[in-house]
Amino acid sequence: MASSKGGNSTGHINTLHQRLYHALNLGFRVCDEKGKKWKCTDIEIQRHVVKSISAFLDCFSRATSNNRLKESISDIAGALVFILGCKNRAVVGLAANVVIRLIRIVPPSILQSYSLDLVESLSPLLRCQQLEVCLPCAVALNAILINLRETKEKEVWKIFEGAETVVSVVANLQNFSEGSMSVEWFQEMASLLSTIMLKWPQSRYSVWHNPALMSVLESVSQKPDLGLRVATLKLYSSLALCGHGANELIDNGKPMLDLMISCMEESSPQNARIEGFKLAQRLATGNQECLKMIDICSESLVKATVQTMGKWSLSSGKLSYDQKSLLVEACKLALITRWEGKHHFYFWKYRISEALLSLVVENFRSQSLDGSVSLEEEISLAEKVLNAKFLPSLRSYVWDIIGFLAAHCQEEFDSILHEDELCLNFLITCACLTLSRSVQKGYQICQTDIISASHSESASRAVLMMINSPSKYISSRARVTLSFILEEGGKENLNYLMKFMGYIPSSGGYILPNILQTTVCLVGYACYSSIPQYASFILRNQGLEILLSFCSWYQRNWENVGASSFAPSPQSTSEKRICCWVCTEDWENKDAFLLYALLALTELVNHSFSGQYHAEDLSMKSENLKDRLCTTLKEIRDGDYGSGPKWYAAHILSYLGYFGFQHNLGKRLMGAYEDEECSDMRLLFASGNSVSVHKVIIAVRCPMLLPPKERAHNGSTILTEKSQRTVQEIRMSVNVDTLALVKLLEFAYSGYVEVESTLLKKLKTLVRHCKAKVLLQMLCRRRPKWGSLIPGIDITLALAPKLIHFSDVILVPKETNVAGFNCRMCSSTSPHAHSHRVILSSGCEYLRALFRSGMQESHTDRLNVPVSWLGLTKLVSWFYSDELPNPPSGCKWNNMDNEAKLDELQAYVEIYSLSEWWIMEDLQNDCAHVILSCLESARELSIKTIELAASFSMWKLVEAAANHAAPIYHQLRDSGELDELDDELVNLIRTAAVQFSQQGS
Ligand SMILES: [Zn+2]
Ligand SMILES: [Zn+2]
Repeated sequence: MASSKGGNSTGHINTLHQRLYHALNLGFRVCDEKGKKWKCTDIEIQRHVVKSISAFLDCFSRATSNNRLKESISDIAGALVFILGCKNRAVVGLAANVVIRLIRIVPPSILQSYSLDLVESLSPLLRCQQLEVCLPCAVALNAILINLRETKEKEVWKIFEGAETVVSVVANLQNFSEGSMSVEWFQEMASLLSTIMLKWPQSRYSVWHNPALMSVLESVSQKPDLGLRVATLKLYSSLALCGHGANELIDNGKPMLDLMISCMEESSPQNARIEGFKLAQRLATGNQECLKMIDICSESLVKATVQTMGKWSLSSGKLSYDQKSLLVEACKLALITRWEGKHHFYFWKYRISEALLSLVVENFRSQSLDGSVSLEEEISLAEKVLNAKFLPSLRSYVWDIIGFLAAHCQEEFDSILHEDELCLNFLITCACLTLSRSVQKGYQICQTDIISASHSESASRAVLMMINSPSKYISSRARVTLSFILEEGGKENLNYLMKFMGYIPSSGGYILPNILQTTVCLVGYACYSSIPQYASFILRNQGLEILLSFCSWYQRNWENVGASSFAPSPQSTSEKRICCWVCTEDWENKDAFLLYALLALTELVNHSFSGQYHAEDLSMKSENLKDRLCTTLKEIRDGDYGSGPKWYAAHILSYLGYFGFQHNLGKRLMGAYEDEECSDMRLLFASGNSVSVHKVIIAVRCPMLLPPKERAHNGSTILTEKSQRTVQEIRMSVNVDTLALVKLLEFAYSGYVEVESTLLKKLKTLVRHCKAKVLLQMLCRRRPKWGSLIPGIDITLALAPKLIHFSDVILVPKETNVAGFNCRMCSSTSPHAHSHRVILSSGCEYLRALFRSGMQESHTDRLNVPVSWLGLTKLVSWFYSDELPNPPSGCKWNNMDNEAKLDELQAYVEIYSLSEWWIMEDLQNDCAHVILSCLESARELSIKTIELAASFSMWKLVEAAANHAAPIYHQLRDSGELDELDDELVNLIRTAAVQFSQQGS
């Protein structure tokens, strides 16, 4: 018998069902052959129907399923939708409350078919001033949206746009004032808005770009009422899915971050804690944003995280579901250890090893670790722990976190270890043991158990990071432990690894046999290579050749293997609904396999150079192998691979005499170095030789070479009159080695240098004296820091006020009036940019010719550039960094009006045209790329862009833009937009449209 609330019997249900239809029948109208529809505008009848529905629904709960209910849903929903649509204030509040009850009782799958109608009738009511109408409507709408199927999202968004739903909700929140409105009211509005932002990225702009709303939220977040605070936190959390939004939040973030952290703490309720961790994860989606957040609150953030991870308890031997979700969120946030920063210090300070061990060992107590046990005993304890398989779903996080911490450690970090040392040691032992077991399992590794396979992978990677840790303590502890564990069956397993690695390139396959297995094998290979006795064995058995073949195979099949990423990403980057985040690729994420292979190669090359290896066996002696090694490594270093592989390729090449990276800008500057034209300083050697250099480049790239008074501007003289070109002569001391200095200069200009081994020592001394950090690191063969960027050449520093005295030319745009123009260098108020002849001519043939032509322009201090001020700033940025700045992206771009978008586009078209005249092909290509990708997201601008490009006679660009307009040709023709264009241009678009339709069919 179906009975629920109040023990309603079937008889009672039938009676109420009858009454319901009595009421409904008053309003049914026959519409078409499909049947009747409920339509009645009489308020009294509406009220009667709503009450009857309400009484009928009272018989049911979620758990009861009843045919009577199922068969009447369509009629009930139809009547409610109509009544809500009539907007009779006397009834809609009641009706909305009934909708809420309906959603609670009826399974979402059945309600789906009515959701669009309900959304359409509820949305306009949010504008209603009466709280008793507005509030239930918001609650009902939110409940519908939460269960909405993805396929309906597009239509719902259209309804929202028509009803200005987001605007209404934002206005409601903005009008909130405590006292006159209930806390519940704010909570429901905030919850609705955060659901909308979660599902529809396009709604986020109107929130973060509304300072009035943001300041209301900030003041609400500081109220003592927990309900208000958590509701605000949830809103922030949805908002942070947008990169621009997150930046806005962090930029004036102290109160927001205080709220977030206070919600994370133990004293807060569970849901608030989880929401706090989620917000922090989202804010940490990008490296830059994460560092900004850490800058403000690193200690308290880390403290809350580590304490959550380490402070929890089992209830009757089990971890509750709630506890576990909280731990998962805390672990995910702890993955911010992937990035370098001052937070690492606090992770150690709050004893992360102990917290991590509590997630690995059941009932862990740090006192139970005894510092006096032997390694052997520790290993057998670790064996027991691993066999117990405690909290398996958290294990991968544990290894990832400790791995990242090890990779970013300071060299002399053991001083901050406190009493955490024993815990760290035990973690290292557990990780090493997992690695060794994984290698032993070999090909069976992931046949059965996905969870343990992913443990194998993350533990192996952690061991690799420990071995490569800058901390000598961690690195040597890991090597010693691993070498001890591997002793048993070591060579046998190693043979298997070498066979496996050799098999991949020789098999003729295009894809990897199994991704997890390959990862474990490669990492295992690298770990074995780090232990001297195995390294010798590997080298004797063609292990280096095997690795090289694998690298070449990877390069050839790169597209099939894919730029796969295996390192874990915090949840936020895997959330599919994020927008406007610019996430630069991570070190280990792009081309991870290549990175592992190069780490192994590093160990082998280091071993064969370190003399532990007998010279007569040295396979490196073979010139052929050496050449292959060089070629492969150079290809990787100069190719389009992840920063990790590129860095390690460069690192290994430093053993062979090649230092640094080659860059476009470096090549350009090297051209300037070889051509003495614009030089303003000559270094005279005791031998009588000399080199000519450019002060501005030296000032940015190797300032110690400049005479002290030249290094920074003292504020007195700026050249505003015609510059008298003088070349300053500097006599170098006898102690300076000419050859070494020339090499240093070469590196300063180009970022790259080749050095004979005989010169290394002298160069190192000089470089140390000149404090050229990057080159020194490479000369000392220090391993690349995990996660460090490829050192670029960026001479934008030359534009800083303190180096202004080197500027010898002023660029003047065609615009004479720019609102808010203000020069940091001089008092002139007409738009201009200070620049350097040497940099301009290094990037532009035309200008180089002009400056040396002897014509009047060649002496001028002012150069007119026929572009707008916006265009000029982009142009200057290209000259000094070799990168053309992008226009605003994501929500910012989408919400710009067409005029502002056109201003941006115009700047690029101007530069495009200029680069034709100034003969700068690369720059022109960059411009075309930007212009076309802008049109991709704003096709409606095609016509204007075509006109613009035509006015500059840039026909190639006109054609490309016409191709963009082709798909909407009919639309453009019908709207009359084409009428304004020249016939010739219209023809062009028509031809493109015809071609487009032919390709389409
Ligand atoms: Zn966005
Ligand atoms: Zn100025």
